[in-house]
Amino acid sequence: LDTGFQNVSARQRGCHDQRRSKEPKVSQVGITTVLRRPGIFLDGEMREASSTETIEVIDPTRVQVFGEVSDGSAADVDRAVRSGHAAQSGPWPRLTFAERADVLRRLAERIDEEREDLARLAAREMGWPIAGGRRLGEAVELIHAYIDAAERVKFEYLRRGGSADAIVVRRPIGVVGGIIPWNAPLRAAIKKTIPAMLVGCSVVLKPSSEAPFDSLRLGELAIEAGVPTGVLNVVPGRGPTGEALVAHPDVRKIAFTGSTAVGRRIAALGGEKLKRLQLELGGKSAAVILDDVDLESVAGSLSKQVFRASGQTCTALTRAIVPRRHQAEIVAALAEAAAAEVIGDPLDEATTMGPLASRRQLERVLGFLESARSEGAVAAVGGGRPGLGGPGFFVEPTVLVDVLPTMTVAQEEIFGPVLSVLAYDTEEQAVELANDSAYGLHGAVFSADPARALDIARRFDTGTVSINGLPIPITTPFGGVKASGLGREHGVEGYDHFLEYQSLVVPDDLAADLAASVTVS
Ligand code: NAD
Repeated sequence: LDTGFQNVSARQRGCHDQRRSKEPKVSQVGITTVLRRPGIFLDGEMREASSTETIEVIDPTRVQVFGEVSDGSAADVDRAVRSGHAAQSGPWPRLTFAERADVLRRLAERIDEEREDLARLAAREMGWPIAGGRRLGEAVELIHAYIDAAERVKFEYLRRGGSADAIVVRRPIGVVGGIIPWNAPLRAAIKKTIPAMLVGCSVVLKPSSEAPFDSLRLGELAIEAGVPTGVLNVVPGRGPTGEALVAHPDVRKIAFTGSTAVGRRIAALGGEKLKRLQLELGGKSAAVILDDVDLESVAGSLSKQVFRASGQTCTALTRAIVPRRHQAEIVAALAEAAAAEVIGDPLDEATTMGPLASRRQLERVLGFLESARSEGAVAAVGGGRPGLGGPGFFVEPTVLVDVLPTMTVAQEEIFGPVLSVLAYDTEEQAVELANDSAYGLHGAVFSADPARALDIARRFDTGTVSINGLPIPITTPFGGVKASGLGREHGVEGYDHFLEYQSLVVPDDLAADLAASVTVS
């Protein structure tokens, strides 16, 4: 397995002989590459952490230690934030937008060049099948989409006609704390860093303890692309590391993706400190299937969405709301689609479903399957662990029937390959079922008549709804309502959270002079 880390390690050795003993070490042990990268990514390179605690990263397929990272302390967070704060007085915020965009385009190129290594890394860290994983969760496309969207942000304009005129400046908010989960780790890291850096902010990124290497590598690639030191620092760790970031007085904004429970904790801590918060949280998204659809194609599309990454995607459509009279046919079609999933080693090109990312996640999903049984639901397909003979954290693709809306599996986010089927008699009831959730992230409507589907989509209480399984474009606002979070990312709207307004009140004659060169809005 070539993860690309060796090259960097060699490069760093050449540049920093005096620090050789603190270099990240990479050793190849048979099939398992053990990544030993204790330290934090600070001021442009891996540096020794203040914390002496480390975290073992487990390969969920082989259930072996895959690597090791530092468990960053509050002192490590402080060093990283200070560095980011100092970078706010450096060149980065003062470059033109076009100059920053050029640097980040180079970063996209570097990621593209390392696509294979990064995909293999995600396969080992969290079990993402290599065949689909090579898309890297659209990491490269996202960078270009962020640049395109930022070109439409008005960073400065003149407001006239009040008691006085004012130049309205939208300036970078300062140091942003990014906290991310393990699913789609590079994509999550891109979402928290690129829009912030594009408008001139600095970022301290705290990846999850399950999949930290992508973020550390992103730090290195950013330096190679020309991002000045200190603009992006990375501190691996667990919850306390994240809390130190939220509480740090020089962090102006927290951009978080993760569970609703942790989101609430961050909101409480951040609220106390009056931090700006952007929270992308959990989901329990519904797909309403109307009675006019081609059942086979709907089952194919739905099963792909719900079983992708072993169900560990926030927008997974985990509740299928189906017309009662077609329920048996839909379940049969879903069973066929589930049977087509190839469960196995994520490094195998044929695999479509790898393991769950961690033992914690495995126990959580098995616990939900147990609760489904005890509350009276029935597994029409799957329902347990496949007999693969290895130690990996695998769970079968599962379709549950006889699910009532009040059951735990109909209400709580499972984050595993489990689809609950709920039956409806009227369209009114279907919409009620779809909205009967604490969450409000995503949803879908399937119909042969897109206009009919759109009417129903408008009645969803969610951040996004897609017709007939279309993927959510990376150019439109994305985020949830209710327990699915606060704020939106992507598109021109995604910049609101990274910018602060400043109104500079100016005398009439200066405003008149400026009116020729600055947009009046
Ligand atoms: P998690 O909430 O357990 O952890 C997310 C991150 O928060 C990790 O880096 C973790 O170390 C950190 N953290 C934990 N406790 C913290 C605390 N007290 N203060 C600050 N940081 C803390 O989530 P997870 O299990 O890693 O990921 C799965 C969850 O992420 C699911 O609920 C899923 O829906 C959600 N998710 C949401 C989206 C979205 O865009 N809405 C996308 C992907 C995943």
